[in-house]
Amino acid sequence: MFGISRRTMCETLKRRFLLLYGTQQGQSKAIAEEICQQAEQRGLVADVFSLKDTNEFSLEKEKAPVVIVISTTGTGDPPDDAQKFVKKIKDKDLPEDYFAHLRYGLLALGDSEYTYFCNGGKVVDRRLEELGARRFYDTGYADDCVGLELVVEPWIKDLWSALEREFSSRVENEKIIREMNNVTNANHNMVEIPGNLDVHIQTISLERQPVSDGPPPNKATPDAGQEAEPSLVHSVPPLSSCSLNIPALPAPYLDVQILDCAAKESDLSSLYPEKEIFTVPIRQAKTLTTQDAVKTTLMLELDISDTTIDFQPGDSFAVLCPNPPGEVADLLNKLGLSDKKDGQVCLSVKPQAKKRGTLATDYIPEKCSLLYLLTWCLEIRALPKKAFLRALAEQTSDVAERRRLQELCSKQGNSDYNSFIRDQAISVLDLLNAFPSCRPPLGLLLEHLPRLQPRSYSAASSRLFHPGKLCFIFNVVNFAPCCGRRAARKGVCTGWLSDLVRGSTDTSDNINTFAAEPQISIFLRPSTLFHLPLDSSVPIIMVGAGTGISPFMGFLQHREMQRQQQRGCVFGDTWLFFGCRSHEKDYLFGDELRRFVANGTLTHVKVSFSREPPCTDDKEPPKYVQDYLKVFSRDVFRILTQENGYFYVCGDAKNMAKDVHAALTEIFCAELGVDKLEAMKRVTSLRDERRYIQDVWG
Ligand code: FAD
Ligand code: NAP
Repeated sequence: MFGISRRTMCETLKRRFLLLYGTQQGQSKAIAEEICQQAEQRGLVADVFSLKDTNEFSLEKEKAPVVIVISTTGTGDPPDDAQKFVKKIKDKDLPEDYFAHLRYGLLALGDSEYTYFCNGGKVVDRRLEELGARRFYDTGYADDCVGLELVVEPWIKDLWSALEREFSSRVENEKIIREMNNVTNANHNMVEIPGNLDVHIQTISLERQPVSDGPPPNKATPDAGQEAEPSLVHSVPPLSSCSLNIPALPAPYLDVQILDCAAKESDLSSLYPEKEIFTVPIRQAKTLTTQDAVKTTLMLELDISDTTIDFQPGDSFAVLCPNPPGEVADLLNKLGLSDKKDGQVCLSVKPQAKKRGTLATDYIPEKCSLLYLLTWCLEIRALPKKAFLRALAEQTSDVAERRRLQELCSKQGNSDYNSFIRDQAISVLDLLNAFPSCRPPLGLLLEHLPRLQPRSYSAASSRLFHPGKLCFIFNVVNFAPCCGRRAARKGVCTGWLSDLVRGSTDTSDNINTFAAEPQISIFLRPSTLFHLPLDSSVPIIMVGAGTGISPFMGFLQHREMQRQQQRGCVFGDTWLFFGCRSHEKDYLFGDELRRFVANGTLTHVKVSFSREPPCTDDKEPPKYVQDYLKVFSRDVFRILTQENGYFYVCGDAKNMAKDVHAALTEIFCAELGVDKLEAMKRVTSLRDERRYIQDVWG
């Protein structure tokens, strides 16, 4: 600071804002990085912090505008790294004017398929407002269901003019200059300078560049008489002939070298040094569905007897999974690096790089091999974002292919992006196959693809019932072939797990055992809420469809053992509403459920079969779990309102959980004789009391 003239310092400070992010899977962080990068291009300074670093920033003292990007996780919760911050601002003792000095803008991320859309952001937004803070810019609600970028991009675009207005509206020029005059050599670092001078920020439109080199000799242009059908590689007018607004080319930030020397052996625990990772054998695999079922459900039994894993029914755990070896080999081939796969990867951030937030260097172990990196570190199936497409276009020599990539990342090509990339789950490898003249350097992939995420699975067993074992169930995810990809493929983790257990020995009852037990690496992800009630006498209602029955198997096994071990204890009623397609093909755990009923662990079980042929009598049986809930609306209402009962929902968030919520609201409407709004309030209060608990995922 000493070397900077007062004027420069003032200029810098007045263009400063605080940028905070709360992220679960890295999206908010990536967006904050994008904002930061664009801010720099505009001569603004964004001080970026994760919301978890509450010691690094102080909203209590903050005088510059604050921009918050925050996602939503679980059942409408703020992300894990924002929990501490949220707890802090939720302190009931804070006065109403606590943040009266604060001006902020907030971008909330969520998925409208879930019941509590963008709730992580809404909670923070509401609380800041309650404490006197005022928005300088309208809150944005970005929806992952339809594409975050639909809101994120315009929100960021207009953020700059909102910030400009905010800076301009602050008229404390004189005061600041006076404060600047008081800054002495002795105490520069202590001065608090508000970012509120009356300045005009020159808005240089860098983020979108018009591409108007006209329609190139586009493969997209069909021959005369040919049907004009757009596809991943082909476009049709007007898109194929219009000027395009495309994102700014992101500046590269990585230097990548592949050395000939032997790479360091990296074990999987080096990927998550902060987690306790256990590598455990798969003792048994069982196929729970018949061959002609719509989906294949597998149950794996892990031997955890040699570990310190201490889980409760309702907890999940994460499975570290590799990318499919065939795709990794194809990618190496496309990158022209097949012969260097065993070489040691050396990554460094370019000295002048301005990139902030998570960098590839943060999570890729030092000196690992290229093969290890592509197998375990990078989500090579991730949906390529528009900035990535923009960067790929630069690496594409064929003019028509380059134009099509530009179209797909342009504002005008948004609908094609959604149809041919997002909806088809196109990966970077699919793109390199579809656009053969695109030859990106490895560094570009490392800069644009996110970290490979471990996949979560709910424990489907209880340690009381199965000491030393941990069971889980999953459906093998299948992606059908599409116009950008000829072959079908399986989900990264479920495909890998199903291949892993395929070579096992088939015994009776579809149970497979192994000559040599395969091993997988896992770590525990405890749930905060999704556990049996502490008071065993209260009744519980469990609602799940398909693999959503998983945690309830753990609950029921646990209850069965508790009932045996605690004879004098009172146990409340247990209701299970379970949805599957067919009695014969995918009625998961049918035998075990019957046993629970027979021994009194399960007092009521209502199974809906969505694809059974119609019955002979004229009464249609309930198709889905929510239909069955309505049949027993009296009991459901009584349990929840008079008996202090718990309502658990697990499984598909996109449809089932939403519809169950609607059914519950309907039940409250009818039983209370109130309108929908009032019923929704009652259902929400159940949630606030933590008696309506969801563990749902899309
Ligand atoms: P991926 O390769 O990651 O592909 C899945 C993605 O592709 C999803 O985003 C999905 O929306 C999308 N997709 C799927 N099919 C298609 C298609 N045909 N076309 C386009 N897109 C498609 N799952 C279980 O089965 N059992 C559990 O007990 C379980 N518990 C969970 C607990 C928690 C707390 C969480 C967060 C998730 C849980 N899941 C569970 C989900 C699980 O973590 C994985 O997401 C799932 O198994 C898919 O992983 P994958 O790597 O095989 O698929
Ligand atoms: P699924 O096999 O797709 O469906 C199970 C049943 O639900 C079928 O009978 C299906 O009927 C029915 N169904 C479809 N739409 C419905 C609706 N709107 N309301 C109620 N029922 C409906 O189930 P799945 O693949 O196992 O899906 C479970 C999902 O939950 C997966 O995404 C899985 O990853 C997730 N999961 C999450 C957790 C967790 O978060 N802890 C745990 C386990 C599973 P039709 O097909 O006949 O319409």
